[in-house]
Amino acid sequence: MAQKKDKFLIEDWNKRKIEIQAENKKFTKKLSRLSDKKLIEAAEGVHDKVFAKIDCLDCANCCKSIPPIINETDARRIAKHLGMKVTAFKDQYVKIDEDMDMVMNQSPCPFLQADNTCIIYEFRPKACREYPHTENYELTKKLKLHAINAQYCPAVFHILEELKTKL
Ligand code: SF4
Ligand code: SF4
Repeated sequence: MAQKKDKFLIEDWNKRKIEIQAENKKFTKKLSRLSDKKLIEAAEGVHDKVFAKIDCLDCANCCKSIPPIINETDARRIAKHLGMKVTAFKDQYVKIDEDMDMVMNQSPCPFLQADNTCIIYEFRPKACREYPHTENYELTKKLKLHAINAQYCPAVFHILEELKTKL
């Protein structure tokens, strides 16, 4: 049976994300000093446990606040889906950011709908598919990023909280 999603986790994140920022920075630093073996053991199942309780459709904060990177393959795929030329797609939806990455030029994302669904979901950028980088190996390798992402993503916040109870 599917586990019931818990909106309280998103409300809880919203209330505590600022006050816990410094603590999370310290905690992810501590994690980076652990052996790979210990870290991988602790991370086992945590992503799945948290995402079983959080429904991204209750949130969509990543789509509302972090313009995703778009690579050339993404641009070609999405443009084709929209029936646009790649150059026209880039002119309308893409900009180059301060890190010289090609990113969506609007935030919230222009493909996000009022019900928090993505109108190009099957064709969305690789960066959207991979966010928030907490599955398996990625959870143990992007610790600095998780401390930042805990400010934007309730799932990352609660994944770090889970890890705190284990370590
Ligand atoms: S911010 Fe995190 S929890 Fe919210 S929609 Fe994005 S991935 Fe899901
Ligand atoms: S393309 Fe879709 S998944 Fe990616 S940010 Fe936009 S609305 Fe969200």
